[in-house]
Amino acid sequence: MPQTFRSKVLILGSGPAGCTAAVYAARASLKPILVHGLQPGGQLTITTDVENYPGFAEVIQGPWLMEQMEAQARHVGTEIIHDIIVDLDLSKRPFVATGDSGDSYIADALIIATGAQARWLGLPSEQEFQGFGVSACATCDGFFFRGKKVVVVGGGNTAVEEALYLTNHAAEVTVVHRRNGFRAERILQDRLFANPKIKVVWDHVIDEILGDSEPRGVNAVRLKHVSTGATQTLDTDGVFIAIGHSPNTALFKGQLPLDGDGYLVTKPGSAQTAIPGVFAAGDVQDKIYRQAVTAAGSGCMAALDAEKFLAGISHHAAAAD
Ligand code: FAD
Ligand code: NAP
Repeated sequence: MPQTFRSKVLILGSGPAGCTAAVYAARASLKPILVHGLQPGGQLTITTDVENYPGFAEVIQGPWLMEQMEAQARHVGTEIIHDIIVDLDLSKRPFVATGDSGDSYIADALIIATGAQARWLGLPSEQEFQGFGVSACATCDGFFFRGKKVVVVGGGNTAVEEALYLTNHAAEVTVVHRRNGFRAERILQDRLFANPKIKVVWDHVIDEILGDSEPRGVNAVRLKHVSTGATQTLDTDGVFIAIGHSPNTALFKGQLPLDGDGYLVTKPGSAQTAIPGVFAAGDVQDKIYRQAVTAAGSGCMAALDAEKFLAGISHHAAAAD
């Protein structure tokens, strides 16, 4: 029998943005409900070492960090539900969300923290070595490749920025791009071409990532020329896939404005979307920083904005009585 859950604040997503929003909303006595979605804990649950989340002198594990965030949100009074929101009606108030379970969630304010997903090439070997030499985040994992050789795949701003960033750690960075020109901004390209640690292999794609199973790790990539099909092997210790991110915004299309890359648009300096009472935080609205700490920070902003919005509603209701 489907159930109906009623709350002042409904939070979609249990990554750093959703969990932080939950902590702040619960501590403001708003009794939030948080719905996990398909990936409880979000993107950090698919990585291993996290070294750049403040507060931990030792290396911590992504899944552990997310367990802690969820426990904290629960501890201060968040109700956390395993469901995936599959339908949403923002056209009238209160807002109504429907879960995959058939349950309904009715809320006066909504915090969207559904995150984004790195795009992957789709090779089985890429999956096999994810977290063992294959990464989609140079800021997160570059440090583990000190003095080593790495390959970056892609030709946009992210790929070029990741390649430049990786020169802080790696001895040699090779960018593999499927065309013979980058789409990245000129200034970034100039920096890349001027960097002696970086070389570019044009007109190639990764055909296979090669490595060992004991211990699991990458040792080379097989490259394929896009027009001749000729292959060559390039030795490398790591592969960074930087072919773009997809924000999880399919649910909001037609109801909330999205930018040209599909990200939710928020009012600068706030978490406010185009609909009063609907807030967005984390990677779902951030294509630039995409870090756990920035997601957490914007989750805090969303909860504070929601609290202010709800206070305004109750003030108006009291004035109307
Ligand atoms: P996400 O973590 O993406 O979480 C989104 C949440 O929304 C998930 O719980 C999902 O289930 C939920 N959701 C989606 N759709 C729905 C729906 N329809 N209904 C309900 N819920 C839904 N950052 C760092 O700072 N340091 C690192 O070391 C680091 N390492 C990384 C390693 C990897 C491999 C990757 C991919 C990313 C890494 N990042 C790192 C980036 C970091 O993980 C993200 O910036 C951060 O997780 C974004 O948080 P978020 O809460 O916005 O979204
Ligand atoms: P992007 O601009 O979409 O670039 C993706 C790159 O990956 C493209 O070069 C594309 O090749 C390549 N690619 C896509 N699929 C591929 C595949 N299957 N195999 C091989 N290569 C593939 O993505 P992004 O670089 O992540 O940037 C996303 C958005 O964020 C952009 O708007 C960007 O400007 C913005 N951004 C801005 C900054 C900044 O302002 N500093 C930093 C990062 C990102 P083609 O070129 O052939 O299509």
